[in-house]
Amino acid sequence: MTAVTRFAPSPTGELHLGSAYSARIAWRRARDVGGTFLVRIEDIDIRRCRREYETAMLADLQWLGLAWDGEVRRQSDHFADYGRVLDQLDARGLVYPCFCTRADIAASTSAPHPIAMGPDGPLYPGTCRHLSREDRRQRIAAGIEHCMRFHAARAAEQAGPYSFLDEGLGRIEGQPLLLGDFVIARKDTPTSYHLSVTVDDHLQGVTLVTRGIDLLPSTHVHALLQTLLGYAAPQYAHHPLLTDATGRRFAKRDRDLTIRALRESGRTPAEVFAMIDGWSCAGPAKA
Ligand code: GLU
Repeated sequence: MTAVTRFAPSPTGELHLGSAYSARIAWRRARDVGGTFLVRIEDIDIRRCRREYETAMLADLQWLGLAWDGEVRRQSDHFADYGRVLDQLDARGLVYPCFCTRADIAASTSAPHPIAMGPDGPLYPGTCRHLSREDRRQRIAAGIEHCMRFHAARAAEQAGPYSFLDEGLGRIEGQPLLLGDFVIARKDTPTSYHLSVTVDDHLQGVTLVTRGIDLLPSTHVHALLQTLLGYAAPQYAHHPLLTDATGRRFAKRDRDLTIRALRESGRTPAEVFAMIDGWSCAGPAKA
């Protein structure tokens, strides 16, 4: 069966060995079956993302020989698409405005009562979920900054049981409450990672999502959104993270391990891939 895969970097730094490893997986899975390999620029965080990094990443992918098909989709050009889907969710009572500051959240999650924990720490305690319609209206009218949060419990009710398929892990039962009432539209942009990834994978007809195992918790909410919105479910292949021999992940701060630095030091693409293969065998590749 043919496949549509994608590599979806955020342009907040230069392409490094870890992201080249991930890109090659998506590229190879498409090329192996005569499918389509897409590149998508995930730049909704307009304060951290830079156009120079985008240009450099695309040049590095080309230099590595990981040529993509069709046009590169840049998320910041498509805020209206995400806004339309946000409105649909809103019409179903699945989102609510949240006026909490970081400090409010930190204070409420350190209070001496049981706090629900998520994969990245305490979950949002749901403070603004209980505001009255009038209270919300007044705060919005007063210009108080707010994000939009997802009403996870109500979404779970509307969706019913759901699951997703990971090639290596098998069928996984969806946990709709895993990330709690996560932010579905940020204060500064009318979308979030979870919303735009789900919408784009759908609009771009992605059939196989290859991504690091660190994003497995996110897949639980993406599959939930797909179920609610009636989108076809892609298959997933979560891969181990590229780590060094001590188990440490590569990150954008590893300046000497950017593709650009390796290229400037005279390495060829084949040598870069040999390094990646060496690291991916050496490391314990933990999640
Ligand atoms: N943009 C995300 C990142 O750079 C990956 C998106 C995804 O695979 O869903 O980590």
